[in-house]
Amino acid sequence: MKNRAVKIYDTTLRDGAQTLGVSFTVKDKLAITERLDGLGVHFIEGGWPGSNPKDVDYFREVKKIKLKSSQLVAFGSTRRAKIVASADGNLKALLKSDVKNIAIFGKSWDLHVQKVFKVSLKENLDMIFDSVSFLKKKGCFVFFDAEHFFDGYRANKEYALESLKSAESAGADCLVLCDTNGGMIPSWIRAIIKDVKKELNSNLGIHVHNDSGMAVANSIVAVEEGAINVQGTINGYGERCGNADLCSLIPNIQLKLNLKSIPAAKLKGLTEISHFVSDISNMRQSESQPYVGSSAFAHKGGVHINAVMKESSTYEHISPDSVGNKRELLVSELSGKSSLVLKAQEYGYKLQKDKNVTKTLHELLQSLEHEGYHFEAAEGSFELLLNKHLKKFKKFFTLEGFRVMVEQENKNELVSEATIKLKVGNKREYTVAEGDGPVNALDSALRKALNRFYPVLSEMRLSDFKVRVLDEKEGTAAKVRVLIRSQDRESSWNTIGVSKNIVEASWKALLDSVEYKLMKERSKGRI
Ligand SMILES: [Zn+2]
Repeated sequence: MKNRAVKIYDTTLRDGAQTLGVSFTVKDKLAITERLDGLGVHFIEGGWPGSNPKDVDYFREVKKIKLKSSQLVAFGSTRRAKIVASADGNLKALLKSDVKNIAIFGKSWDLHVQKVFKVSLKENLDMIFDSVSFLKKKGCFVFFDAEHFFDGYRANKEYALESLKSAESAGADCLVLCDTNGGMIPSWIRAIIKDVKKELNSNLGIHVHNDSGMAVANSIVAVEEGAINVQGTINGYGERCGNADLCSLIPNIQLKLNLKSIPAAKLKGLTEISHFVSDISNMRQSESQPYVGSSAFAHKGGVHINAVMKESSTYEHISPDSVGNKRELLVSELSGKSSLVLKAQEYGYKLQKDKNVTKTLHELLQSLEHEGYHFEAAEGSFELLLNKHLKKFKKFFTLEGFRVMVEQENKNELVSEATIKLKVGNKREYTVAEGDGPVNALDSALRKALNRFYPVLSEMRLSDFKVRVLDEKEGTAAKVRVLIRSQDRESSWNTIGVSKNIVEASWKALLDSVEYKLMKERSKGRI
């Protein structure tokens, strides 16, 4: 197995696009294509030109992009029953996409052939053979995706193998074994691939769904058994429980199996592309996502923090840097001054444990946490607080006041309106904005007021808003904690506000969110 190269085949744009809640425009797909090319994946499955006009547009537009490392693949099905391959509209659409690499799927489970397709078992094998040989004659590189292969094999081993042999004898370049229902476990995959290898000589690929939570494990087993083409999606997107997550698969292949896949230096781009794709898909990134999640290398307990600083392998399986992620040390009431010193170091500040400024910062944090602030979940507010406490923060604006109104007229919907007065330098700004609710109205008014001075704010948006009542016993006088998540093209950050008044708590979190963005932009020299 040593030195074997494993080709990474991305299907985010086809299978990933099936995720509930995800809808890619052609522009989104082109942007993702460029990122995938930048990551150095070998194949990018762009879509199914025979199934929808959007994918036809994509294949036309993508030609304008000069790909450096990746090759495009167009996806489609075998010919329909009872017609010749050359007359099949779907196969024609594949050729028309003008892509050299074609993936076609065919049935390998007798149940599907007879119950769903309602064609004879023999006709199905002919459909596979004809379609593959038609494309081979046209000079294509052909992947044959054996749909439901593993289920088919467990139900009728001979027939499942026959389907592969049809594709092999027609000249398919790679036979992709698919766990379409995603219900396999690693030992089944291993045993079946061992059998397949006795019967066939072709290059094997693996395409696994995650319905049993095993997609990555199953794919790794397939690679160990010799698969040289691994299919998956960024962040494991895909219908139902998703596909195998390339953000776990790629580092597992390179750092654990020590096999070659994408260029080693590009592995550092993994965290960024993961966040980029979740952003463009409008999906929330899972914080605990292996390798690339924001908590993947976050340490909370004081003892853990201490150990990690002495020797990172005590609580980290790889160096976060190798996949472009970073270590996070979480600040909490439990942490002492030494954790605070380390935390500040992460942001580039050298604090000294025995200096007064460290002592007062520590006290301030403790009293805020006592009030209900929770900086573990609000790193944006924490960094801002650190900046302000260390007198590094230069004001972007001075708030002079705000007012929010919620109004209902004639039983119509509630209308919220916010008014904000602020000063930037010596210029005074007074704006009014409406919103779906008071916080939305405040957010709009604040941006409207600042936009003229800091147009960069138009890049950011609120992506999540959470409210928690802190002491329910006190009824309406209870404190609320508001956590806001904001994002721009590059990153996302959380900010926090605590108050007895929900509008005030939200306002504090909102202000932090905007100030944080401006602080970041200034540190990059953009404003
Ligand atoms: Zn699939």
